[in-house]
Amino acid sequence: MQCRAPGCLAATYGYSTYCQNHKQKLRRHGAPTQDGITVHELRPYVTLVETRKAKNPTSEAWAILVARWDVVQDNARATLQRFAEGRAGNRVERLAAHHLVKVGQSVEPWVVIKTALGLFILQEQQPARFTNDAAFDFQLVRRVRGLTDSNAGAYWDHNEQRSKRVYRDIPPRVIQAMAHPLKAAFGTAGLMLAAKERQDIAKASDERRRLTTALEVLQ
Ligand SMILES: [Zn+2]
Repeated sequence: MQCRAPGCLAATYGYSTYCQNHKQKLRRHGAPTQDGITVHELRPYVTLVETRKAKNPTSEAWAILVARWDVVQDNARATLQRFAEGRAGNRVERLAAHHLVKVGQSVEPWVVIKTALGLFILQEQQPARFTNDAAFDFQLVRRVRGLTDSNAGAYWDHNEQRSKRVYRDIPPRVIQAMAHPLKAAFGTAGLMLAAKERQDIAKASDERRRLTTALEVLQ
C-alpha cells in the first residue's frame, strides 16, 4: 500500500495508512504533513510580545496572564493530588497534568506566556504554516514543553563531537489534553495581540503610502 500523505510514494508502515515518516509526523506534530515550528522560527513573534509588554509596562494584562498560568498550574496539581489519593482519574489527564506541572516548576511564568502568545501571532500571520487545528495545538504544547530541559535526554554525538538532545515523545492524546488549558488561558489574549500587530502593520503601510503620495506632489 502507498502512503496516504499527498505526494508521498513510500509504502505504508505496519497497520498505518501512512509511511513511517508521515506516521511519526502525525504522532509528533498532529498532522502527517506538519513540520515542527522551531524556536528560531518562533523567536520574532515572541519578540513582538516582549515589545508590546515593554511599551505597556503598567498594563494589568500581564499580571492577569500570570494569574491564568497559576490557575493552570493549580488545576494540574489538583489532578495529580487526586490521583495520589487513589481517587479515580483518567490516565491521559494525569499525564497532561504531570507534564504541565513540570513546565511550571522549571520555567518562569512570563516565559511560558510569551511563548504561547507568540505562537498565536505566528498562526495569525502565517496560517499556512499549520496544516490544521490539531497541528497548531501540537506546536503550542511542543514549544511550551521545549522551554524545559526535562523533556530531553542527552547523548554524545561522536561524529559532531557534541552533546545532542533527544526529545521524548509523549502520546498524542496527552498533547491534546495539555493544549486545552493552554488555549483556554492564553487563546483570547493571543488573538487580540495578533490583531494589534495586524493594525500596526496596516498603519505603517498607510503611512508609507501617504508619504509617497505627498512626496510625489512636491514642487
Ligand atoms: Zn509518506
